[in-house]
Amino acid sequence: MSASKYTLQCNAHQCRVKLSGFAWVTACSHVFCDQHGSETFSRTPSVCPACSNMLSGKLDVLRTELAPSEQYKAMVLIGLQPETVLEISHNALVFWTYQVNQERLLMEYNLSRAGGQVLQMEKFMIQQNQSRELELNALRAEIASLKKGLEEYKQKYNEVLERLNERNRQYQKLQGLLDSLRMHTLGIGEKDPTPHTFTTGLVKQHSPHSPSFLRPEGDRFFSLGPDNSQSFFQFNTPTRDRTHSFMKKN
Ligand SMILES: [Zn+2]
Ligand SMILES: [Zn+2]
Repeated sequence: MSASKYTLQCNAHQCRVKLSGFAWVTACSHVFCDQHGSETFSRTPSVCPACSNMLSGKLDVLRTELAPSEQYKAMVLIGLQPETVLEISHNALVFWTYQVNQERLLMEYNLSRAGGQVLQMEKFMIQQNQSRELELNALRAEIASLKKGLEEYKQKYNEVLERLNERNRQYQKLQGLLDSLRMHTLGIGEKDPTPHTFTTGLVKQHSPHSPSFLRPEGDRFFSLGPDNSQSFFQFNTPTRDRTHSFMKKN
């Protein structure tokens, strides 16, 4: 930005408005908008709001037109000594340079403050990210531990299921055996009455304590245990009793 394109701004911190029309300039090289200048410099003695300099001199504060008319520009310095003209111009340029420089310093300050804020924000974000990362890692570890626990439970479940299936198979096997045993026993029970009345009678006459026709079946029951053999013999006892009664009747 070239100096001629630069627009002065009110030096009141709370204002900073771009100046046009009339403005108030001070001997301490500050400038204010018409509103702030009128408010501040109507009191005496005046104090510069920007640098707190006392402005008690008659020409320490001046209300000036920033864009004077061509007629004014044509006449204002007329008749003055060249040295005076140059001195006035020099003072005006010093003022201008000071304003541009102050503005640059202010911008640099704002930039550095914004940079500091950005750094603080970045630091804050990094801390937040680290904190979230830690939380995330803790959650990941928890999930891994839960998965492991689940796998262990699954394995235990499968083992129990396998054992249950094994028991089921054993049960089915025993059930089948029991069914075939029942069928066989019933078969004997149904077949027995008619032939036994005669056969048992005949056999009983020869050897009453050892019925030889029962032995093969009896051996099979013995192999299943004493309880089964007991029930078998109890089941057969009435048949023998009936045989006795039958025999007695005869
Ligand atoms: Zn202002
Ligand atoms: Zn000042």
